[in-house]
Amino acid sequence: MSNPFLSPSPLPFELPPFAEIREEHYLPAFEAGMAEQLAEVAAISGISGTGSPEPPTFENTIEALERSGAVLSRVSLAFSNKTASDTTPGLQALDAEISPRLAEHSDAINLDQALFARIDALYQQRAELRLDPESEHLLQRYHDRFVRAGARLGEAERDRLRQINAELASLGTAFEQNVFADTRAAALVLDSAEELAGLPELAVAAAAENGRALGRDGKYVLSLQSYSNQPELASLDDPAVRRRLLAASLGRGAGSNPDLIRRMVVLRAERAALLGFANHAEYVVADQTAGSTEAVETMLTGLVRPAVANARREAEALAAEAGVERIEAADWKYWSEKVRKARYDVDASVMRPYLELESVIRNGAFFAAEQVYGLSFTERTDLVGHHPDSRVFEVKDADGSPVGLFIGDWFARESKRGGAWMNEVVLQSHLLGTLPVVVNNLNIVKPPAGEPALLSWDEVTTLFHEFGHALHGLLSDVRYPLASGTQVAQDFVEYPSQVNEMWADWPLVLANYAKHHVTGEPMPAELVTRMKQAESFGEGFRTVEYLAATLLDWAWHTVPAGTDPGDVEAFETAALERYGIAMPEIPVRYRSGYFAHIFAGGWYAAGYYGYIWSEVLDADTVEWFKENGKSIRESGEIFRRELLAVGGSKDAMAAFAGFRGRGPEIEPLLVRRGLTG
Ligand SMILES: [Zn+2]
Repeated sequence: MSNPFLSPSPLPFELPPFAEIREEHYLPAFEAGMAEQLAEVAAISGISGTGSPEPPTFENTIEALERSGAVLSRVSLAFSNKTASDTTPGLQALDAEISPRLAEHSDAINLDQALFARIDALYQQRAELRLDPESEHLLQRYHDRFVRAGARLGEAERDRLRQINAELASLGTAFEQNVFADTRAAALVLDSAEELAGLPELAVAAAAENGRALGRDGKYVLSLQSYSNQPELASLDDPAVRRRLLAASLGRGAGSNPDLIRRMVVLRAERAALLGFANHAEYVVADQTAGSTEAVETMLTGLVRPAVANARREAEALAAEAGVERIEAADWKYWSEKVRKARYDVDASVMRPYLELESVIRNGAFFAAEQVYGLSFTERTDLVGHHPDSRVFEVKDADGSPVGLFIGDWFARESKRGGAWMNEVVLQSHLLGTLPVVVNNLNIVKPPAGEPALLSWDEVTTLFHEFGHALHGLLSDVRYPLASGTQVAQDFVEYPSQVNEMWADWPLVLANYAKHHVTGEPMPAELVTRMKQAESFGEGFRTVEYLAATLLDWAWHTVPAGTDPGDVEAFETAALERYGIAMPEIPVRYRSGYFAHIFAGGWYAAGYYGYIWSEVLDADTVEWFKENGKSIRESGEIFRRELLAVGGSKDAMAAFAGFRGRGPEIEPLLVRRGLTG
């Protein structure tokens, strides 16, 4: 009975041996992995071992740290992918148990005084070390990381930090599990197909299938997406059903999560104060490309007025179309579709037959990566992913050399959390001799057996977006695992993925994949033109819904230490009012109760602004691809070399300037989002 995590996987590209991994393997592997890494760190810092420690060198300290924790890295990467994508009650229990222990483990390393003394000594001598730029940047990142984790604090403060981090880890896991349970419990159960009038036939069939799968035979069940404004709101004809659906969506987490939210906000503020910052946002942004809270606030607050004005113009058009004084939240998407149809003659359901999943993947996302970066994709049916629905593809470079593995898992299921995301299960690193293995997860409703999966335009865009993250991971070409692929500043990480969205409607690519799933006819050109025009109507809604979530995140994380934020709902209302973004007819993209980006784990806490921050770079880059006079293959090669390949191995803005020839400009974003008026 050997544990598959204890040794490197024998499979190609060190793909985790999913077929052999059992639930009972995780905990012993976590424990063995933490023990192994602590022993390695003790040896590095000279506490254990024989004789006196060697003086610190880059190799015996920084590089040795990069090599440490191999078992823990294998099990952690596989586990986080599995719990997000295909969880079980057993895995959820283990997650709750292990997350505070992992936080404690990180602190044991980050707050190790002997270890920090060595890192600091190297950092002080960095000018004399004659390191190559990649190694020098890594040393800088290590030093920053330890200082930001509290390595310079006194003993009592370090103890308090350990407590805070362990409690925050537990709270984040509990929050995520509440959202998971509430999202399932809030699925809308309908008695008759009539109540679903307006939905496409296949969606009605899928709702019936969903009912059967959930043990509600004869019922129609609409499972919820992670965000507030459910896609079915656009087509359900019955206003009462629309109201029920939106209420179910907005109510998630309202009962289970408020106490957790308040506690997390208080603890994050306390931790920021311990580390010398005014609030959590200031602590977070100091390590981001934005650099200061003022820079973030200036940008966000500058966008509010034009975005709200834009949305108000849309609201008026919707009210006129609906023949009402004022449009209500549950009716917005429905009437928005009607206006799009009237003004641009675009019907979302007319597009679906041309957007068949398999074609979008192979003739769209893969094809674009071939045209732009010279990559090719071959399905490896001999290799097994983390779930029967996940599929493994081998990726090769233009010269046939191996790039890595891509695992696609596009369908929704009860055991998967909401949303769409990318995971790395093996990190690319020349130091470790590893090539990347990356995963994309989406939540496309699985069609009844034998039926094609026909996507909405939004789903197509999401698929290209996540594939952009995958390419960032796959094309990584760095020495150190810490700098691999998507391990860049959080307000930079959405940039390459947003750039990849451009290929979804690039004429060459679109013509290659958007073909009728029965007749094979290309999507009519005028449908594409009208669809693009129609996209601009709706930017007001999209920008306000997003900015409201961003400013809500910002409000929670600018609460000063020692302040109780009070009632969650009242805080939310007051925050949106204060920033001038409150529009009752446009619910915030995520209400606090299910805002997993910022409260589950906290990766996006005070960082949700990163989407629009990154979009400035994205829009500017799209301009570059369109106007630089080079072929997309030539431009792709430059973008790959200067930006995707370098991951987190150099300063992000220097990497941007490396191919753009200057810093980013905001104008293209304002034009795209209709915010120039
Ligand atoms: Zn993303």
